[in-house]
Amino acid sequence: MSRRPAAGLRAGWSAPVLVIGAGACGLVAALAARAAGQEVVVLERDRAPTGSTALASGFIPAAATRWQRAIGIDDDSPARFAADIVAKAKHRGDPAAAACLAAAIGPTLEWLADAHAIPFEVLEGFIYPGHSRLRMHAVPERTGAALLARLLAAAEAAGVAVLTSAQAESLFADADGAVRGVRVTRPDGSAEEIGCGALILACNGYGGDKALVRTHIPEMAEALYFGHAGNQGDALRWGAALGAEARDLGAYQGHGGVAHPHGVLITWALLMQGGVQVNRDGHRFWNEHEGYSEAAVAVLGQPDGIAFDIYDARLHALGQTFEDYRQAEAVGAIRRAEDVAALAALCGLPGATLAATLAEVQALAERQGTDQFGRNFAAPPLAPPFYAVRVTGALFHTQGGLVVDADARVLRPDGTALPNLLAGGGAARGVSGPAVWGYLSGNGLLAAMAYGRLAGQAAARLAAGG
Ligand SMILES: Cc1cc2nc3c(=O)[nH]c(=O)nc-3n(C[C@H](O)[C@H](O)[C@H](O)COP(=O)(O)OP(=O)(O)OC[C@H]3O[C@@H](n4cnc5c(N)ncnc54)[C@H](O)[C@@H]3O)c2cc1C
Repeated sequence: MSRRPAAGLRAGWSAPVLVIGAGACGLVAALAARAAGQEVVVLERDRAPTGSTALASGFIPAAATRWQRAIGIDDDSPARFAADIVAKAKHRGDPAAAACLAAAIGPTLEWLADAHAIPFEVLEGFIYPGHSRLRMHAVPERTGAALLARLLAAAEAAGVAVLTSAQAESLFADADGAVRGVRVTRPDGSAEEIGCGALILACNGYGGDKALVRTHIPEMAEALYFGHAGNQGDALRWGAALGAEARDLGAYQGHGGVAHPHGVLITWALLMQGGVQVNRDGHRFWNEHEGYSEAAVAVLGQPDGIAFDIYDARLHALGQTFEDYRQAEAVGAIRRAEDVAALAALCGLPGATLAATLAEVQALAERQGTDQFGRNFAAPPLAPPFYAVRVTGALFHTQGGLVVDADARVLRPDGTALPNLLAGGGAARGVSGPAVWGYLSGNGLLAAMAYGRLAGQAAARLAAGG
C-alpha cells in the first residue's frame, strides 16, 4: 500500500473517474460523476459490497427537506443544522465544513429521490442528542443495508462499473501529486494497473487497523470494533505519501449501547425517551443524553466495561420499531421482569441498590427534574414490567481524515489542492472536532453522502479538464 512514480504505471485501460470503495460515499460519488456525463469505475475490495454503510442504522440528517415539510417541520435550515454540528463539537471542528455539508445533504437526498427513485422519510418520535429539529432521514426499510442495496441498484442502472474483489493496493502519481493510476490486486494474487483522470478516495477510515487506532485513539485500543473490517486506513496512508494534510485523527463515533455478548446495536431512543443506564453495581453513572458516541467511553469506564439499559414496556415497543432491536430480541439479548427485584435477579444486579436507583429515577420523572449529571427527565416515569439489556461500548468508525475543501478536493497543509484527488465519508476529516464527544448523530453518513456528491461532481469536472 504505497505511492509509486507515475512513470512506472503500466495501465491496460483507464477510467476518467476512478472511485475506491463501494459504500455510501463511493456510490453517491459515482452516481454524481455519471450524472455529469463521465464514465466511472468503482473498485471494491470485497466480493459483495457492504462497507460500514451496510452495518449502519442508515439514518441521515438533513435540513429543510421536502420530507420534513410534509410532516410540518418548516423551520429547519442548513444554518440551524450547521449550528447544531458546531455546538456538538464544542466549536472545535471546522465551521466551514459543517456549513458545506449541512447545505449539501438535503439537495443530495432530494436528487437521489428524483433521479434514482430512492425514497426517504423522516424518523419521527424522538430527537437524537444534539439535534434541535427532527431531521433524521432513512429509506423506508430503515437500515443501512437497504440504503446500500438501493444505491447499488441505482449505480448499476446508471451504468457505473463496480469491480468487486478488487483491492486498491497502491497509487501511481507524478511528482506534483497528480494521481495517474491505481494498482489493483485480486484474491487469486493477480494484479492489474488502471489509469484514471481523477481519483476519489471513498474507502472510509482506520477503525479496522488496530495499530492506527492504538496510535490515534488509545482509549479504544482494546475496545470492540463494530465497523467494517475493510476500513484499514488506506486513504490516510496514501494521502500522507502524497503530501496531504490529515486532521482530527483522535475523533471517532463510539457507541455505548452494543448488546453484550450478542453484538447487536441497541437504539439510543430508549434512553432518550426515559430509559437509564446502570452499572454492574446498580448505580447510574452519567447523563445518557449527552450522546451515544461518548457513551462508549462512559460505559467502558464502568466495572467490567459493561452497563445495563433499563426501561419499560412503552420503550420496548418503541425499540421494536428498529430492525436491530428486533434482532437483539430474536437472539435473546432483551430481558423482561415483572418487578425491580426480579429484574435485579435476572441481571445479577444488587437488588437494594437497583431499587434505590430506580426509585430516584421515578421521582425525577414525576417532577420532571434534573439529576446530578445534568440530565433532564421529561419523559413519563418507568412502569413495570421492566426490561433490561446488557451493553458494552464499541468503536463504530473513525472521524479524522484527509482535509478537503468544499469540492471534496484533498488539500495540502498549505491549503492548496492536490491536482486530481478527492475524498469523502470516513476517508475525509469529519465535522466532529478532535474527540469522541464531538460526534453528532448522523455525522458519518452526512459526510459520506454529501461529500460523495460533491466529490463526484468535482471529479467529473477535473476529468473533463476543468
Ligand atoms: C453499527 C453502525 C451503525 C451506524 N449507524 C449510522 C447511522 O445511522 N447514521 C450515520 O450517519 N452513520 C452511521 N454509522 C457510520 C456510517 O456507517 C459510516 O460513517 C458510513 O457508512 C461511511 O461510509 P463510507 O462510504 O465512507 O465507508 P464504507 O461504507 O465503509 O465503504 C468503504 C468501502 O471501501 C472499501 N475499501 C476499503 N479499502 C479499500 C481498498 N484499498 N480497495 C478497495 N476497496 C476498499 C471497503 O471494503 C468498503 O466497502 C454507523 C456505523 C456503524 C458501524
